[in-house]
Amino acid sequence: MKFYYKCLECGLTYDIKPGVYLCPACKNAAAPGRPPRGVLETVCEGSPESSPQTNPVDFIHNFLPVEKEFFPPVPVGGTPLWQPENLRNLLGLKNLYIKDDTANPTGSLKDRASYLVAAFARKYGIKDIVVASTGNAASSMAGIGAAAGLNVKIFIPSSAPKAKRVQALQYGAEVNLVDGTYDLAFDKSIEYTIKNGGLNRNTAYNPLTIAGKKTAALEIYTNLGRVPDHVLVPVGDGVIIGGLYRGFADLYEKGFTDKIPVIYSVQAEGSSAVNRALDNGDFSDPVPSNTIADSISVDVPRNGYYALSMLKKYNGKGITVSDGEILSAQKMLSSSTGLFAEPSSASVLAGLLRIREGIGENAVTVMLVTGSGLKDIDGAMKALEI
Ligand SMILES: *Cc1c(COP(=O)(O)O)cnc(C)c1O
Repeated sequence: MKFYYKCLECGLTYDIKPGVYLCPACKNAAAPGRPPRGVLETVCEGSPESSPQTNPVDFIHNFLPVEKEFFPPVPVGGTPLWQPENLRNLLGLKNLYIKDDTANPTGSLKDRASYLVAAFARKYGIKDIVVASTGNAASSMAGIGAAAGLNVKIFIPSSAPKAKRVQALQYGAEVNLVDGTYDLAFDKSIEYTIKNGGLNRNTAYNPLTIAGKKTAALEIYTNLGRVPDHVLVPVGDGVIIGGLYRGFADLYEKGFTDKIPVIYSVQAEGSSAVNRALDNGDFSDPVPSNTIADSISVDVPRNGYYALSMLKKYNGKGITVSDGEILSAQKMLSSSTGLFAEPSSASVLAGLLRIREGIGENAVTVMLVTGSGLKDIDGAMKALEI
């Protein structure tokens, strides 16, 4: 297939090459306290060469804008889609599935984006990668970068869970602790790349982060042999949900499905900018984020406009849950399925508990579980106290 970037706002298109991040024509329209403007989406033209039935791995690869030979030798994606029997019985949902992205090499779904970014860097002979993160994007880029032979420099808030920091250091990344929020780390990392060069992997800012995450949707489709009825996704910056929509929309546009699932944006009460925008029609003044679910704790969602436009276009829904609901869902998920997920990811079960009466016992429903519980032990300890 043929690939290019397209600005969702003005429709201008760009070649996929180093140095292209936000749409130059739209990025200056960004207002203070609002999401960035001019996020680019990766469009693919043509049809995949491989068949989803006989060669699902190549079929999925056909949708990615970097050739297979550039991907680093590390097993990203291909995560299990499985049937949690006890939870099915407990909730009365016969066709409930878990897409377990904790099974990625560094323990989170972020590896899907890091994998594509690393392949792109290898294709263009780029050695240095810079990323800001609440924790998982950093540990992910560090790990996948290690496999790819890249130098990774990360900016994370000093409050990030210790395990994510230790992971990044283990993988050999250079870790810069920022005394402040993720939003500050984000700005610092961009300043750094503008001054010193290298490839920036910041979420949404680098369009490949969205394209990389769409493989989760493509795998759900090839695993099930159809698209599900409902998918629950934890949302912070809105890149995972944007990528998922892009994946399902690619399948729709190429005739592999005649519907797009109902996608639920699950957010924490203390960090719910996307869901508030979905209710109100647009983004409003940021509220300082405050939730136990660090991976979905953001003040201004970096992929806010893209996520919001996809949610509106495909009738997605927002579910906003409290930290208490997240912590008890975390314990319920662990003890009923054997899958220990970090709080951000357990939020999808909290969300499911809110909507299960309305979705019908036979609906094919997928919970996207994005990160391992071992990444944030202090958070999980709290669940044991309630
Ligand atoms: C990053 C992350 C999310 C949220 O993804 P966004 O693209 O920021 O919405 C959810 N869960 C985990 C484990 C993550 O690392």
